[in-house]
Amino acid sequence: MGRRTSFNPTETISLNSPIDSSVDSSPRLGPSRDPDAPQKRWYHYVPLSAGIFLLLAPQPSWLYVLVDYHLKTVHHRAAFFTHLLITYALFFMTFSALIVCVVRDPGPVTDEPKNEDSEGLMTGQDDFLAPGRWCRKCWAPKPERAHHCSICGRCVLKMDHHCPWLGAKCIGHRTYPAFLHFLLCITLVSFYIATVCGSVLWHAFSDPIRMNELMPLHGIFLTFYGLIFGLVIGSFYCWHLYLVFINQTTIENLSPFLLLRHLPPLPRTGHDLSDPPLELELSRSQRRLVRDAHGHIHLYDLGWRRNFAQVFGWKHPWGWVPRLWFGGASPGDGRNFPRSPKSDELLQRLATELTNAEDAPPSFETVIALVLTRNAQQLRQRDMPWSSTSDAAAAKAQRATSALNLGFFKSLRGGTIVGYKS
Ligand SMILES: [Zn+2]
Ligand SMILES: [Zn+2]
Repeated sequence: MGRRTSFNPTETISLNSPIDSSVDSSPRLGPSRDPDAPQKRWYHYVPLSAGIFLLLAPQPSWLYVLVDYHLKTVHHRAAFFTHLLITYALFFMTFSALIVCVVRDPGPVTDEPKNEDSEGLMTGQDDFLAPGRWCRKCWAPKPERAHHCSICGRCVLKMDHHCPWLGAKCIGHRTYPAFLHFLLCITLVSFYIATVCGSVLWHAFSDPIRMNELMPLHGIFLTFYGLIFGLVIGSFYCWHLYLVFINQTTIENLSPFLLLRHLPPLPRTGHDLSDPPLELELSRSQRRLVRDAHGHIHLYDLGWRRNFAQVFGWKHPWGWVPRLWFGGASPGDGRNFPRSPKSDELLQRLATELTNAEDAPPSFETVIALVLTRNAQQLRQRDMPWSSTSDAAAAKAQRATSALNLGFFKSLRGGTIVGYKS
């Protein structure tokens, strides 16, 4: 992708304007996109089609069981209409939420932030000089909790994950409640159908004379189908409920080293780490420290009530209607999120322990990867000097690279790879 050829310190950079015309010529119309990202093809919709088929496949059997047992066998019209109403209301909500997930933009980074909806501590423009807040693929600021999806080729606000089952789209700030609603409705309708069919089978087998010979086949199929679907999707839904409970996205939960971006400034001496540290330069014991800390530091955890309100809350009196119907979008602008006050203290402790941790020699692969990363950093530094935290950090990176190269080649001369410390 294109890069700026020179840096003009007097130039004013608009956060919503493209720096390179090859990246995006109309950012207000939609998100900027990485031109190197793969284009969406027809086969990306195959999992979505398969999912819709799996949802529609049991419908004939379900109608057969309802009509044959409740209308023709036991002549119980009220039960027939009750089951019909409940299941098709749930199916209607399922497909409404599915349409929202597939059609809606999950979180456009280039839209104008709505400050009046902002719930965060920062209400101004994004602090894109902070670590991890500039997307080098989109060449644009990356708001807090936004991530770049390499498959979609763009940044997504509060990105949760990329979902191949929902039209190869990301789940983000504007589609996460709809996604959870989709999972919940499928779980409910699956268990409901499994329960009704199990009960029908129980009664039918206790009076087999009145039973139609095909009904048990449909009933057994639906019972197992509903149980399997309900258990699989329900487990996934419970996992997401837990994430809402601690206010984490899937990416944040599965990426412990994202914490490094949020560390307070490290002491200037007594260690070889960058500021903030890179994952690759951590020794085994330091990596273990970060993983352990990740289990305790929930950056945005404000208590379960506020956490749930951040995803499912509404401000308008009738806001519960879209929540109940198709899930809707998360409230707020999706750019700024209040931090847990406790997390700052824990991050400070982690920073101290990282700099005090015993430094074990990294592996051969780590040394190679770190050399490449350092070189890439230096190149980036040349291209975008204003994105560095400080000149001292750059000098430290240079010294670390030199020491690393020296130690690496020394170890090669010695015939063994022993680490980078000379
Ligand atoms: Zn991006
Ligand atoms: Zn994606």
